Amino acid sequence: MHRWPRGTASPGGLYGHPMAHLLLVEDDQAIGRAVQAGLTGNGHDVIWAHTGRDATTALRREEFALALVDLGLPDVDGTDLCRRIRAAQPACVVVILTARDEEIDVVLGLEAGADDYLTKPFRLAELMARVRAHLRRGAASPGNPVLRVGDLEVDTSARRVWLAGSEIAVRAKEFDLLVRLASDAGAAVSRTDLMSDVWDENWFGSTKTLDVHLSALRRKLADAARACGTPAPEIVTLRGRGYRLDASTTGPATR
Ligand code: CA
Repeated sequence: MHRWPRGTASPGGLYGHPMAHLLLVEDDQAIGRAVQAGLTGNGHDVIWAHTGRDATTALRREEFALALVDLGLPDVDGTDLCRRIRAAQPACVVVILTARDEEIDVVLGLEAGADDYLTKPFRLAELMARVRAHLRRGAASPGNPVLRVGDLEVDTSARRVWLAGSEIAVRAKEFDLLVRLASDAGAAVSRTDLMSDVWDENWFGSTKTLDVHLSALRRKLADAARACGTPAPEIVTLRGRGYRLDASTTGPATR
């Protein structure tokens, strides 16, 4: 398994999204193995701690973007561990993994600073989606600010966009839209997801505004590509499934 320097996005990422350094705290062998395999398969770098003690050691040595914490650990109280992670690494997203009968512990865990929880048994796909969503939200952290798709660079911290080193001027919502697509580059993003993530969670109105912003963004990417003589990533329309940002494969080879 390749390791990118911590705190940086992988160049392009295995699946187009930046891979992250994750901590998994789980004493159950079967669950731990499945989750670790799933996360690693999605291009992430995972440290699996089987006990609270191992987790504490790992937290002392390394910085994590996200921690998955089983509440029922053999040696420590899971909620205490959440509190410890929160104190030691405030930027780390904490997701609790819990059995259905530990509902009261979920409340305690959330009070202890966890950001989210998943109830066992959970589907691996759901866990992956949740992790992806959290990492996307965390993409603006100072540690991991730049998304790269082909020759396109999106700096989520400075909120600036470059193609092959030339800056592209984009408006605020165009930028948010590009970040959303670039975070899942190579994958389909539905119109509903774009609307709720970029505009409003409770969007009931027309999605005309999405079309307008998409076409403006496409035009700007194409203009920049022409000006630089380098291919720009393309926003592909997938009939009935939404949109996908592809690193362009035509023209001069990308880095
Ligand atoms: Ca357990």
